[in-house]
Amino acid sequence: MGEGTVVGEAAGLYVHVPFCSAVCPYCDFAVARGSGADRERFVGALVEEIDLIGEGERHRGGEAWGFGTSRFDTVYFGGGTPSALSLGQLGAIRRRLAAAFAIDAEAEWTIEVNPEDASPESLAGWRELGFDRISLGLQALDDSALRFLGRRHDAAEARASVELAREAGFRSVSVDLIYSLPGFDADWWLRTLDEAAALGPDHVSCYELTIHDGTPFGRRRDAGRLRETAEDERAASFVATHRRLAELGYEGYEVSNFARREADRSRHNRKYWRHQPYLGLGPSSHSFAGRSRWWNVAPWREWSDAVERGGSPVAGREELTDGQLLLEAVMMGLRQRSGVDCAELERRFGSDPSVGNGGRIEVWEKAGWLRVAGRRLTPTLEGMARADRLAAEWELR
Ligand code: SF4
Repeated sequence: MGEGTVVGEAAGLYVHVPFCSAVCPYCDFAVARGSGADRERFVGALVEEIDLIGEGERHRGGEAWGFGTSRFDTVYFGGGTPSALSLGQLGAIRRRLAAAFAIDAEAEWTIEVNPEDASPESLAGWRELGFDRISLGLQALDDSALRFLGRRHDAAEARASVELAREAGFRSVSVDLIYSLPGFDADWWLRTLDEAAALGPDHVSCYELTIHDGTPFGRRRDAGRLRETAEDERAASFVATHRRLAELGYEGYEVSNFARREADRSRHNRKYWRHQPYLGLGPSSHSFAGRSRWWNVAPWREWSDAVERGGSPVAGREELTDGQLLLEAVMMGLRQRSGVDCAELERRFGSDPSVGNGGRIEVWEKAGWLRVAGRRLTPTLEGMARADRLAAEWELR
């Protein structure tokens, strides 16, 4: 691996399952409903992709993947809806992963699950397959919001799924929630947070609703039938979310992520935020190693066609310069409670990212967006709310 990757770190493995039982009106991921035959075909192609990379035969344009000798300490099944696959299909994928890659016995195994798929039997099955962390897509805890979001579960199923996951013995239970829903006010959102915390998850992820062009919500917005929440309202919701969850015992360690204890933080997501290596499998998945990033084609049929032909499903790749990696590291640091460690970045990249930004840092400190302690820059809540804008203004010398 090149210098961009944090040396000596174990890698993460991501498996993308592109199927959902119905497509939510706000979703802009490459997802499909998929018939039973489609799912079988997908699993067959995934197994082939795993074998080819595991054997080190697959190359990206003649260059080795660089993962042949890696040790993996996180495995994450995301989507789409991984729980849309049967236990038999998930088991086949899991067995192939274990045969092809050196996965630590203590690795974190996460599965994303929709509440309507969580039954005592399915949860016991996922535990038996080795998943120890579950991410439940609750999104909301009342029926009118769930209907608005076009979800297939109701509030009772959402609540029950957390309890059942706990009873099934998952080490860490995480729940996903969505805020800034048009027509749902600040009190409604704070109530949602209180009710979610009362269910006792170890980890909470809160995402702002984004209305994307080309989705049913995007078309409704364009026709004037859906009002996007104003930017200042969204910023206020962001700050209120962090404050309320902190009161409820969940530390916001990243813009969208909250944990009760350090051990409940997502080890896998940290790899994305810290330039640690990760290998993505399945359509639309991204990989990173050294200073290279590459990604698979998104439509699952195109991806399957390529794999079945024995060709490469890679749609594109980029080689990042030190400057690009350093800027990304600053951006990701501004999105995390731990902030930007200029000394560490100077060791990795040979230049201090604060050089040339002294004026900006001073202004942001005075505005209450940043705290400076030695060579560490830590965003305040107000700073995290503006993290992307601050990063866009950053300049490297
Ligand atoms: S369940 Fe998630 S991935 Fe599937 S359509 Fe809905 S938002 Fe998209």
